Amino acid sequence: MADTTVAADGVEAVLDDVVGWRRHLHRNPELSFQERETAAFVAETLAGFGTALEIERPAENSVVARLETGRPGPVVALRADIDALPIDEQSGVEFASERAGAMHACGHDAHTAMLLGAARLLTEARDRLPGGQLRFVFQAAEELPPGGARDLVAAGAVDGADLVYGCHVWTGLETGRVAAMPGPFMAAADFFTLAISGAGGHGGMPHQATDTVAIAAQVVTNLQHLVARRIDPLAPAVVTVAAFHAGDAPNVIPGRAELAGTARSFTPDVRDRLPGLIEDVVRGIASAHGAEYELEYQRGYDPVVNDERATALVRAAIAPDATAELAPIMGGDDFSAYLAKAPGCYAFVGARSEEAGAVHPHHHPCFRIDERALPVGVRLHVDVAVRALHEL
Ligand SMILES: [Zn+2]
Ligand SMILES: [Zn+2]
Repeated sequence: MADTTVAADGVEAVLDDVVGWRRHLHRNPELSFQERETAAFVAETLAGFGTALEIERPAENSVVARLETGRPGPVVALRADIDALPIDEQSGVEFASERAGAMHACGHDAHTAMLLGAARLLTEARDRLPGGQLRFVFQAAEELPPGGARDLVAAGAVDGADLVYGCHVWTGLETGRVAAMPGPFMAAADFFTLAISGAGGHGGMPHQATDTVAIAAQVVTNLQHLVARRIDPLAPAVVTVAAFHAGDAPNVIPGRAELAGTARSFTPDVRDRLPGLIEDVVRGIASAHGAEYELEYQRGYDPVVNDERATALVRAAIAPDATAELAPIMGGDDFSAYLAKAPGCYAFVGARSEEAGAVHPHHHPCFRIDERALPVGVRLHVDVAVRALHEL
């Protein structure tokens, strides 16, 4: 059996720091690809753990720290994402964002702090660890395709890794519970922008104009028919139009309506068909009503598919009474970029609590986490790392 006393002895000792780091990051959120201060904070904090950690900056705004045990063994990478979202915070916490237009509304502040706590414990325990190498990967820009994982993978951050592990705090799951599911777990996340254009005109004389608002509205509703009627009901798919911008005045039909959205899927077949199906709808409706269109489709993150063996190892690190089962979710995550390089597992750490007010969905302006999830996440990072060094 792996020696799991590293976590058992240590989590309490680092918990105050972990909470402090998390709150500092929460106050000072930075958007994707702009995490200069966050990355500097991470590198500086890691440097405070002693000289055993080799700290590198292989990609902009990301930090990787290596811990060599000095003895042969597997390479185990632990990943946290560090970026925030373009949201004005309304959570009411005392350590709320001090930056207008930026908020840690997905919990990446917690991910960063938990991995820092684990890095400190594991660094302090280096001489007691099984042989091998640990890599602590603090990744920029998970929230904005093309994402920060791609650059880290290209820079070799997980080259030679025998296991890559990451976790996401989750307000869909009660605090204290953890889910690590084998197989497809998070969706492919693709994106599109659409512009409908035509002659604008007088709001009272629509027959002399091309009503881009009415046409774009038909596109939005018909895209839902696409999911309901063109895709196999047993194959998950989502098409969401989340942005719709057109017009400024009540009596002026605008010449252009701009839409943007996301398409989610699991299977390569559905993923490959969606762009064509979307364009069929857009072309048909635009043509029927005399409008022009421009559609741009961008493939985003691949689905997160957890490796069976890696997931079994992670599940063995979860206390039996804490183990939860979660159905796959249509959220996406660029953790998949690491999984294309190395076997791994992405786990979900419960952070929901009515009494802590941690009940809102991720990406909501009132989003909160239950901070009692933090020690759970630190402990799991440490246990997974020790187990993986021992067993792989
Ligand atoms: Zn998110
Ligand atoms: Zn997230």
